[in-house]
Amino acid sequence: MSVTWLPEAYDGQARSGRLNTPHGSIATPAFMPVGTRGTVKTIDTEDLERTGAEMVLANTYHLMLRPGSETVAALGELHGFMSWSGPILTDSGGYQVFSLEPAISEDGVAFRSIYDGSRVELTPEKAVAVQEELGSDVAMILDVLIGLPATRENTIVAMERTLRWAERALQARTRDDRSLWGIVQGGSDPELRARSASATAELGFPGFGIGGLSVGESPQARNRAVEAVVPELPESAPRYVMGLGDTEGILDCVSRGVDLFDCVLPTRLARHGKALSRGGDFSMKRAEWATNTDPIDAECPCVTCRRYSRGYIRHLLATKEFLGPRLLSIHNLTYTLNLMRRIREAIAEGSFAALCKEVTARRSA
Ligand SMILES: [Zn+2]
Repeated sequence: MSVTWLPEAYDGQARSGRLNTPHGSIATPAFMPVGTRGTVKTIDTEDLERTGAEMVLANTYHLMLRPGSETVAALGELHGFMSWSGPILTDSGGYQVFSLEPAISEDGVAFRSIYDGSRVELTPEKAVAVQEELGSDVAMILDVLIGLPATRENTIVAMERTLRWAERALQARTRDDRSLWGIVQGGSDPELRARSASATAELGFPGFGIGGLSVGESPQARNRAVEAVVPELPESAPRYVMGLGDTEGILDCVSRGVDLFDCVLPTRLARHGKALSRGGDFSMKRAEWATNTDPIDAECPCVTCRRYSRGYIRHLLATKEFLGPRLLSIHNLTYTLNLMRRIREAIAEGSFAALCKEVTARRSA
């Protein structure tokens, strides 16, 4: 497999390292901004590079429907299509498909396209084929998701089907220059989580997603699930908690040995006018900012904080100018990617626990 992870430093369970891919090497723990339709909403790839992003995620579900993976392939695969030269991870499409309540069988899932209502089938094999055509550095298997709350019985059924689909996905691979990762399921039950993790690890994947988290469970339940999974995974493989991107969640998971994250949170909050900040997150729409000349965060190196006042950004949001969500997206991503950089530095220095304390204290002050 062409994607490897090499450790650099340990601090307790937290670890830093390098993820090496066909499109370069990135430092972990890392956060991937989400480019749902081949674009991180409102910002371009040059903006993205300036936020400190090294790897991005794109959504197979949307791209297979529009413009279609063959069109993306004709435009130079995802890297050429988006003009992004760094590593790209694609999800399998399962998360979006399962939110549409598809018809599920042992073979796969069938659903109606949100674009034109046509019937679309997605199988473990097709999810691999589409992602290979998209040309992502890391592809994810199609897994079975369940709604919460779920019975233990339903959780087991979904988990076991995910394992069978994982084997089929491995068999369906045709590209050795790309990497396919497994996904651990098992709901909120630590025992099922551990069982799913060890069985997925036995299949020999070079990296592992931890799925089904950040879907409304408590932080304690999420932490217990991660604690059950990590010891069952090979030490040399990257661990990726899917769909998680809040400050406290990232710190909790890194301290339990997680290397990789993705989330729409920084850009979605930006489109709703919310700023992430070292002193705690807040709404930029508040009337009190109307004549405020301060930046969002005086310590932030992003272009938004270097050039624009809170008063100006509030005005852009109030008048629904496109620039408002764009400037806030740049800031929120810079905030999150800076957090990852500080985490990596702290792990290297052996001061990760102190960083967690400092970040948490300032945000709750
Ligand atoms: Zn900023």
